[in-house]
Amino acid sequence: MSGRSTWHSARWPDAFVRVCCAAAIGVTGLVLLGWTLDVPALRCVLPGRVAMNPATAICFLLAAGSLSILRAPRPAGWQRLAQFAAMLVAVVGAVKLSGYLLGWNIGIDRLLFHAQLGDNEIAPNTAFNFLALGLALWCLDRPTRTGRWPAHGLAMLVAIGAVLSVVGYAFGARVLYGVPSTIPMALNTATVFCLLSLGLLAARPNRGIAALFLGSSPGGTLARRLVPAAVAIPAIVGWLRLAGQNRGFYDTELGVAVMVAVTIITLLLLILWTAETVNRIEAGRKQAEASLRESEDRFQLLVNSVHDYAIFMLDPEGRVATWNLGAQRILGYTAEEIVGQHVSRFAPNAISRAAVAGELHRAAADGRFEEEARRRRKDGTQFWANVIITPIRSADGRLTGFAKVTRDITRQRGAEEAIRQLTQNLEHRVAERTAELAESNDQLRQQNQENEMFVYSVSHDLRSPLVNLEGFSQELVHVCGELRELLADPDVPAETRDRGMALVDGDVAESIRYINQAVLRLSGIIDSLLRLSRAGRVEYQAQEVDVNAMLPRLLDSMRGTIAERGAAVHCGELPVVWGDPTALELVFANLVGNALKYADPLRPAHVEIGCRPEPSSEENGNRLTFYVRDNGLGIAAEYQERVFQPFKRVHTQVAEGEGMGLAIARRIVERHRGRIWVESAPGSGSTFFVELPVVRANRPNGGPARRGADNENRESDQEEMTCSLNHC
Ligand code: ADP
Repeated sequence: MSGRSTWHSARWPDAFVRVCCAAAIGVTGLVLLGWTLDVPALRCVLPGRVAMNPATAICFLLAAGSLSILRAPRPAGWQRLAQFAAMLVAVVGAVKLSGYLLGWNIGIDRLLFHAQLGDNEIAPNTAFNFLALGLALWCLDRPTRTGRWPAHGLAMLVAIGAVLSVVGYAFGARVLYGVPSTIPMALNTATVFCLLSLGLLAARPNRGIAALFLGSSPGGTLARRLVPAAVAIPAIVGWLRLAGQNRGFYDTELGVAVMVAVTIITLLLLILWTAETVNRIEAGRKQAEASLRESEDRFQLLVNSVHDYAIFMLDPEGRVATWNLGAQRILGYTAEEIVGQHVSRFAPNAISRAAVAGELHRAAADGRFEEEARRRRKDGTQFWANVIITPIRSADGRLTGFAKVTRDITRQRGAEEAIRQLTQNLEHRVAERTAELAESNDQLRQQNQENEMFVYSVSHDLRSPLVNLEGFSQELVHVCGELRELLADPDVPAETRDRGMALVDGDVAESIRYINQAVLRLSGIIDSLLRLSRAGRVEYQAQEVDVNAMLPRLLDSMRGTIAERGAAVHCGELPVVWGDPTALELVFANLVGNALKYADPLRPAHVEIGCRPEPSSEENGNRLTFYVRDNGLGIAAEYQERVFQPFKRVHTQVAEGEGMGLAIARRIVERHRGRIWVESAPGSGSTFFVELPVVRANRPNGGPARRGADNENRESDQEEMTCSLNHC
């Protein structure tokens, strides 16, 4: 197949077919023109010789048309049309031939140009050729059961008949172009038969005689050189001899002798030339074979030198055909022991033996097979193998065997197993640790709750004595008033009045003032404690909180302080978050309040409230970070964490306070599963950050809660967040 590729891949056979068809149509067209215009020269080429019958010309047109269609793949309709035309040609031939044989004539060839025809009709050898040509076209793509192509045989028959006729005309030997006592085949008819039969052979260049003739094998070379020579040399030399003899240049003996000598010499030279060419081809083939063998040897050497891979070939049945050192090292068999044995011998047990054989089928079907499986060595030990099987096919697609590459991956599998074990252990420990953490978290939460309850009850209990204290101090104020009235009595001696008044307005009044101050302070502390404990216990109602709408309200309530401080407060565009609106308002109120409270008296206060630009996403846990930035006093690094603890204050001299605001803010933010922290530098200002969840944890897009979110989503978000805020 590959030997013929040069000719087959060439496009010239198709071009040749087209030229043959065009020439045939041209010649028959001229003949029909000759009949129409009554020009004998167009009808019969040689003056006074027999003319091509008009029916013959029509048959040629049909045959040429059919061949033009069949030369290339066409739709089924066209194919059928071409075969119908071919069948018509064959029928005309058969009818005319049977007329000659059986002695009847239905005048199929006398229908056209009847008046000018005279005794012209389709010759018997022409009729035979039509029958053969029509059949050849009809069965062009129909092989026999034995795989032969009858079309080529029939076309050869037509070609031989046509060539003989042409030779007959050249030599004036009527017997070659006509059947005695019947009209002979016309010269142009013989020529067109030659064209169409050769065209038909070239239409299927990779089959039968055409394939042999066009192939690049020594046989093809031989055929291409000798066949034209075998036809042309005797014909030309014979014609020259006859022409010379007719002109009286030499007699018969000399003519024949010269003809024989020339033929012998020419054929001899041709045969020698061809033999030399065939020899050259053979030498090339041998060289190619030698280099192939050499490359095979090199490949074998390479394969043999591979130690880490078992590389061997199997025959189509799965028996070991070759063996390399790697195979010997990995599987333990020597080449002598294993070559010829079935590959299933490496299966670890009887069950997997069938599976190993099945791998070959899968490799053959899919073009490749790869797996990691256990294999058995000669000594019975097993190992993990990576196996790759590749089918090997001949040029015509026949399965000639398999190439199998096996690698021992036991160590790799061991390492993988160890990694898997380690990962498993690690995961186990992480799970354990997480559970422990969750448990201690729960304990902490519980402890926190208990602490808050304790703070709450202590604060509550402290409240009543404080109220008493407040009451008694009021009582004392009242008593002092009464005392003052008693002392004002004129009966009271002046000395006693002065002494009494001095005590009431001096020491007693001062003591009452101290008591009141202490009560006020204590009451403030208790209030703060109650607020802190409340921040940890109160039930939160989660909903979408529009921080954008909340802040103006808040700033409005601080209008007085802002004006008093001459502060500029800037508020950016803020997103919607999930949380308890009252609690979150408290957080922002505290941060903005502190920014104003701890403003630097040396410069105009400037406060900025905003949100960091990065969008919330699954990666950052669907959170957004708000900030409150000021250019106030700032907080030294060592206090930045401490300011979030209850009662911890830094700027005690600057403003009054309980040191509880940030502690409450942290408690609220943490209950929202958020974070609060500060970045600050003394003298240049502070930025408080509040990170809050913006969506429920499992919102598919992870985007911020939308203002127009549909009700269903909103309700389930709300439930989920409320639950989470209240630690359900
Ligand atoms: P309070 O304001 O009642 O003292 P906070 O808990 O709100 O209590 O604040 C704790 C301390 O943190 C404050 O006493 C103050 O020293 C410091 N602080 C809070 N906010 C700021 C701020 N914006 N700039 C500087 N210091 C601040």
